[in-house]
Amino acid sequence: MRRALITGITGQDGSYLTDLLLDKGYEVHGLIRSSSESNLRRIQHRLDDPRLQLHTGDLSGDAPLDDLVRLVAPDEVYNLGAQSNIQTSFKHPDATATTNTAGALRLLEAVGSTMRNCRLFQASSSEMFAATEPPQSETTDMQPRSPYGVSKLQVHRAVGDHRERHGMFAVSGILFNHESPRRGTEFVTRKITRAVAAIKTGLADHVELGNLAAVRDWGYAPEYVEAMWRSLQADQPDDYVLATGEGHTVQGFCEAAFAHAGLNWTEHVRHNSEFDRPTEARALIGDPSKAERLLGWRALTHAPGLARLMVDADLATVTFEHDPSVSRC
Ligand code: GDP
Repeated sequence: MRRALITGITGQDGSYLTDLLLDKGYEVHGLIRSSSESNLRRIQHRLDDPRLQLHTGDLSGDAPLDDLVRLVAPDEVYNLGAQSNIQTSFKHPDATATTNTAGALRLLEAVGSTMRNCRLFQASSSEMFAATEPPQSETTDMQPRSPYGVSKLQVHRAVGDHRERHGMFAVSGILFNHESPRRGTEFVTRKITRAVAAIKTGLADHVELGNLAAVRDWGYAPEYVEAMWRSLQADQPDDYVLATGEGHTVQGFCEAAFAHAGLNWTEHVRHNSEFDRPTEARALIGDPSKAERLLGWRALTHAPGLARLMVDADLATVTFEHDPSVSRC
């Protein structure tokens, strides 16, 4: 039975990847922070499966990760653990670098030095392109504009270095925004779809947002974890942009989400400068042609369809009481 180790297993991507790998017959090991133990809701439906094993540990700690890697002896490692909120990275650049850079580098070293045949996937980010013109591909100049983007760029470069100098099977997946009903409510898509459900059912009457003109390339997370897996089954390790290739504004996402519930977004969306960024990325629109060519992967769900499926999921689970955080998060 093939064995995989996933950091960030309790997050959106970690939970979808767990579903995918268990369904493919893998034994799945997840690294969870002790503070995440109470936050197992995204993998709750899999906890009874004896092939899923959780290990308490922390990418941001000092402890070497070699012991864990030796214990699990994985065939594949997916590094999805990160402080992934850009707004938070402006407030806590040190903590962001400790987890996203130092932790990832320690994992890269641990895998490279203890498991020569293990393949590693690093979740890199479109935020590494924040100051460059779209469309962005693997060869586009990387100029981040946030501590989060900087933290990811350093590891992206280290992955290439380990591949070229040490012959390691290490892949960097440059992930453009990817969302789902499991997305955290601090991200704009889920904040919007959750608000639509609350407004539709009379639990709220508006949502406060920042920059409506921001352009993002939003895809559907379960499709992106499929691409992660495919990238580790390829003959050669490489870097891949994973994106839909389409750019949409936050306003466009709002329009699609509110319209799907029979609402007019202009009546329910208010601007609040608290949600504007100190520096905003340019339009982030990926060119996924390399992944299409080499991995046979293509994003099938685009922003309007994504908005609709997320609204449907939030409407189905809108059991929360009137929650003022709908307009605050
Ligand atoms: P990110 O691209 O990883 O930062 O994902 P987000 O979902 O947090 O933000 C996507 C875009 O939405 C950014 O350009 C934000 O400036 C914009 N945005 C506009 N209003 C909001 C808001 O209220 N919350 C968040 N998180 N983003 C917002």
